[in-house]
Amino acid sequence: MEARIEKIKQQLQAQGYKLTPQREATLRVLLENEEDHLSAEDVFMLVKEKAPEIGLATVYRTLELLAELHVVEKMNFGDGVARYDLRGDTSKHHHHHLICVQCGAVDEILEDWLGPLEDRLAREFNFHVLDHRLDFQGVCHRCNNEESDKKSE
Ligand SMILES: [Zn+2]
Ligand SMILES: [Zn+2]
Ligand SMILES: [Zn+2]
Repeated sequence: MEARIEKIKQQLQAQGYKLTPQREATLRVLLENEEDHLSAEDVFMLVKEKAPEIGLATVYRTLELLAELHVVEKMNFGDGVARYDLRGDTSKHHHHHLICVQCGAVDEILEDWLGPLEDRLAREFNFHVLDHRLDFQGVCHRCNNEESDKKSE
C-alpha cells in the first residue's frame, strides 16, 4: 500500500501536483476498496470517517484529478452513476469487467487477455494499442448457482 501511494505521489509530482493530506486520504480509500467500483458519494462517506473535515467538493475534485492523470478510470456500468476504478499496477492496460445484468455485481479480470488481439491489430492495421475497455454483460456465477439451486429443489 505505501509503495503504491509513493508511486502515485511521484506520478502527481511529475505533473506538478502535490499529494495533499486530503488527496492522500481519498487515495487510501480507493486503495483499500480496490475491488469495488465506488461512486464519488461512496468515496466521500469513507473518506469522512478518516478525515471528517473534508468536503464532497474536495473529494470530487481529487477524483477528477486522479482520472485526468489516469490513476483511476471513470466508469459507467449502466446504472447512470459514475464510478471510479483504480488502475492496476501490473498491467498497463485497463482490466476487463464482468457485469451481471441480474444482480448488478461487477467482477474484474485483472489479467490483460487482449495481448494476441493487440498483436494482430499491430500486424494487420499497423495500429498500436495504448489502452482499451472491455466490459461483458451477462449473468454471474452467483446468479447462475442460485438458478441451478432452484431447479434442483
Ligand atoms: Zn474495475
Ligand atoms: Zn491490453
Ligand atoms: Zn449476478
